[in-house]
Amino acid sequence: MNRLRRFFKSLLLPELIAGLGVTLREFFTPKVTVRYPEETTPQSPRFRGLHALRRYPNGEERCIACKLCEAVCPALAITIDSDVRADGTRRTTRYDIDLFKCIYCGFCEEACPVDSIVETRVFAFHFEKRGQQIMTKEKLLAIGDAYEPQIASDRAADAPYR
Ligand code: SF4
Ligand code: SF4
Repeated sequence: MNRLRRFFKSLLLPELIAGLGVTLREFFTPKVTVRYPEETTPQSPRFRGLHALRRYPNGEERCIACKLCEAVCPALAITIDSDVRADGTRRTTRYDIDLFKCIYCGFCEEACPVDSIVETRVFAFHFEKRGQQIMTKEKLLAIGDAYEPQIASDRAADAPYR
């Protein structure tokens, strides 16, 4: 009896028909895939992407070289050197983030008392040469300058929950 059933199954291919049935059903259901990069999925204001250093509206960099971000970073990805300027304020002379070490945990931006180091919504970036993964102070400030309106609106949206 089993052999007979197996024989008819091998002729009628019910698994194939069932599979085609699934294909037919899914053909008419709404699609959940997006055509990246033309389309992207919605992002949270808390998205943790590429880092940036911010400035105040008068152009002064926010970072006061307190090194809290460096101390809290679990991946030891941040390296800071600092010095005192002629006006008596302390500023970083070196601020490097090694993105190969970074785990995008967001601890640095949580620890920063002046909202200087932040993580932007930028997630599509790549490196082509060894060493490009080191984000220097100049690079981080340039990203901050480029994305400041987005960063400021994201921080404002998140402010009631912080
Ligand atoms: S996101 Fe986390 S791992 Fe990356 S630099 Fe900040 S604290 Fe370090
Ligand atoms: S980025 Fe913020 S936490 Fe890090 S050294 Fe500057 S002021 Fe301190």
